[in-house]
Amino acid sequence: MEPHRRSWAEPYKIKVVEPITMTTPEHRRQAIRAAGFNSFLLRSDDVYIDLLTDSGTSAMSDYQWAGLMVGDEAYAGSKSFYHLVEAVQEVYGYPELIPTHQGRGAEHILSQLLISPGDYVPGNMYFTTTRFHQEFAGGVFVDVIIDEAHMPSVEHPFKGNIDLVKLQKLIDDVGADKIPYISVETNVNMAGGQPMSMANLKATYELCHAHGIPVMLDATRALENAYFIQQREGGYENKSVKEIVLEICSHSDGATVSSKKDNLVNIGGFLAVRDPELARRARAMLVQFEGLHTYGGMSGRDMEALARGIHEMVDTDDHVRARVGQVEYLGNALLKAGIPLVRPIGGHGIFLDAAAILPHLAQDQFPAQALTAALYVDSGVRGMERGIVSAGRDPKTGDHRYPKLELVRMAIPRRVYTQAHMDVTAESVVEVYEHRESVGGLKFTYEPEELRFFQARFEEI
Ligand SMILES: *Cc1c(COP(=O)(O)O)cnc(C)c1O
Repeated sequence: MEPHRRSWAEPYKIKVVEPITMTTPEHRRQAIRAAGFNSFLLRSDDVYIDLLTDSGTSAMSDYQWAGLMVGDEAYAGSKSFYHLVEAVQEVYGYPELIPTHQGRGAEHILSQLLISPGDYVPGNMYFTTTRFHQEFAGGVFVDVIIDEAHMPSVEHPFKGNIDLVKLQKLIDDVGADKIPYISVETNVNMAGGQPMSMANLKATYELCHAHGIPVMLDATRALENAYFIQQREGGYENKSVKEIVLEICSHSDGATVSSKKDNLVNIGGFLAVRDPELARRARAMLVQFEGLHTYGGMSGRDMEALARGIHEMVDTDDHVRARVGQVEYLGNALLKAGIPLVRPIGGHGIFLDAAAILPHLAQDQFPAQALTAALYVDSGVRGMERGIVSAGRDPKTGDHRYPKLELVRMAIPRRVYTQAHMDVTAESVVEVYEHRESVGGLKFTYEPEELRFFQARFEEI
């Protein structure tokens, strides 16, 4: 049988189930109003299929759950910490590990150690918490991703690539000594889960090193990026994702990782670096903000489950093939129905093009926020705004930042939902799309100063 006729079926079976609530449209209309039209403020009890995020929502394996029982809760020198060190060294290849409570803990430490006020930090599109910590340390984030990343309907196999001309121009304009590092994200979240190519990463590394600029990965989604490299980049079709993840990291000086994604755990993260001196400084900060250097912000059992999750994600290629396969299944169903979404279909979710779906709403009427709420009311499927609300305000001018992408993200947790759940989701998007002119705009009733999307409240205009 030809390989493309095989389905993406799961390399696991279900051992435990968690019942979820099925609600009525009237109940959901009340719930979204009580939540200020912000899906972050809904109670999970009121949600049927929760696609808010794939962060910390994955299902652990029986082997990971067993790891919780044998986790070593020693305050110092926990053997679970050493299991984690070995896992990170084997899979990511970095010798020095600084465990943190989650990704932003690592971003905080890295940003504070390397960025001085007035520095510039280039990156391939911003991520919310990453840019927050860069700015909090006094830096200015500069987007150097290729233009195609900002064009939802343009097919490009590596929309996460860095535009080397933009990067070179920044180096020429501000000088390499004003660039403490480049922040390179694998499988760019805000672009729709879009990968970068190995060739581009290698060229970025070479350009940066020629100017003495370290390359720091946000390797949170390196696994999904590795899978796309295997599928799309010449020369990698016969390499395992494990080999490719290691090669990705070889073109960098260190990485921050949120383990709530690829790593198949509900909490955790780390900073990993090659330079022992940087690691020493990071550990000094770690004890101030997270915890001792052999646990950071995690319990022993968290570290044990994480070490097992890191091995599990790359032990065979079957896990990531089914993970991305399920996302593509949903995306293809929507494309077939003519729904505008970010293409190619990304690694961790579907990104609906709210600007194209609701052209009757101006961007400052928050089309993606409104579409997220409409989807929830239709079916109890919870997505997330990734547009003007997430982009926040420019700290200098105080105006909204108007991002080119105005998206609703429906992120798929790993190993959690079935194909029937994906069918229900697709049916709901099609239903809302068919009645799209009835979706109205929103306005703020409460706007937080930082990371406003988490707790902002809205009402209908
Ligand atoms: C989730 C995420 C982060 C932040 O990690 P937390 O664990 O949520 O603090 C950083 N970068 C990327 C790409 C992410 O997806």
